[in-house]
Amino acid sequence: MTEKPSDKTSNLNDKKNRKIKCARKMRDIMTTYYMDALTARDNKETVAWITSGGPVEPLIAMDIIPVYPENHGAMIGASKMGEDLCTKAEEMGYSPDLCSYARSDIACAVAGGGPLGGLPRPDMLICCNNICGTVLKWYEIQARRFNVPLFILDTPICHTGYTREIADYVKAQIQEYILFLEKATGRAFDRDKMKEVGKLSLEGQLLWQKVLNTTAAKPAPMSAFDAFFFLALIVTLRGTQTAVDFYKELAAEMEDRVNRGIGIVPGEKYRLLWDNLPVWYSLKWLSDTFAGHQACLVADTYTSAWCSSTRYVDPDHFLDSMAEAYTRIYLNIGVDQMAAQVLEMIEFYGAHGFVMHSNRSCKPYSFGQLDIMNIVRKKAGIPVLLLEADMVDPRNFSTSQAETRIDAFMEIVKQ
Ligand code: SF4
Repeated sequence: MTEKPSDKTSNLNDKKNRKIKCARKMRDIMTTYYMDALTARDNKETVAWITSGGPVEPLIAMDIIPVYPENHGAMIGASKMGEDLCTKAEEMGYSPDLCSYARSDIACAVAGGGPLGGLPRPDMLICCNNICGTVLKWYEIQARRFNVPLFILDTPICHTGYTREIADYVKAQIQEYILFLEKATGRAFDRDKMKEVGKLSLEGQLLWQKVLNTTAAKPAPMSAFDAFFFLALIVTLRGTQTAVDFYKELAAEMEDRVNRGIGIVPGEKYRLLWDNLPVWYSLKWLSDTFAGHQACLVADTYTSAWCSSTRYVDPDHFLDSMAEAYTRIYLNIGVDQMAAQVLEMIEFYGAHGFVMHSNRSCKPYSFGQLDIMNIVRKKAGIPVLLLEADMVDPRNFSTSQAETRIDAFMEIVKQ
């Protein structure tokens, strides 16, 4: 049937309406952020590489530009440059079993490449093992390569709770972290500025949570695929006014969409929860495939990790409370606690199904998934799909296999 001009116009208007306006601003902010980082040396500014779950606030308080190899890894994945860089790392002798963020970053540091032509040279490295043990060796390699000081914050896994011993141990390291920064920069730590940064960090995280919460509305004003994109600011610019202002605007746009009933997936009928990192090189394909079933991935366990510890933060005693907040993040707690969070999310977002990305790269995220899957099936009674892939290296993902599995899974969800 030929489409009438009026249908065409209404389709265009519909598409235009669905487009999230803040996306452009977000791109501009990220471009400025990376330009500042890449020109830091010319401007005599200090750059620190830091792990994605690391305590960045003291760096912001010291006017040090934080750069995240993992965010860079996500960009490498999204620009489909992962296979080339991972292969180069393997040619250098690194195992294909090593996390693809680590492989692509290590290769990039030696051979250049990637969407930015490499990251700016670091003056220091800050590594926190609250996300995994891989980062310890990865950062040691980079510290040797660049011959710069490395600070390691060791956060024991909180299988059941946060004990006094863990609290004392991590708090003591936070004080060592401050001394490390003073020594590395030759400047005194500004505790008044730290208080301001702490408040901004908490405000930014609460606003990010507010944005994510809007997808409890039916239809959801954005999806987890949008959250994967908008996440970059709470990772890279946490503790700044820029992040606070941006998320205020994004939350307002999402609330407006909710009020006007604008959903991101046309005719949303099924709501799904996603687990683990995104498959960066296949976001569009996955988004279109699920949307083809009128299914929206309304939330995920990954992007919510950057606001799930706010209950432990005391803005008046930020440094001390930060020890607990950074230790009790999603990847550093026991499987039972993870499952409890997943069940809460399933209920809050009204999910009809749970999609788990079994990520070959990320062992800490993927090892407990079978237990979580069983708990979710038993307690929430919803179907669960396990999709095998890798966040950056496409050699571990087959779209034809994934399509068959998604189709079969959606048939069960629809019953
Ligand atoms: S193993 Fe997982 S948590 Fe660790 S750096 Fe890789 S993706 Fe991040």
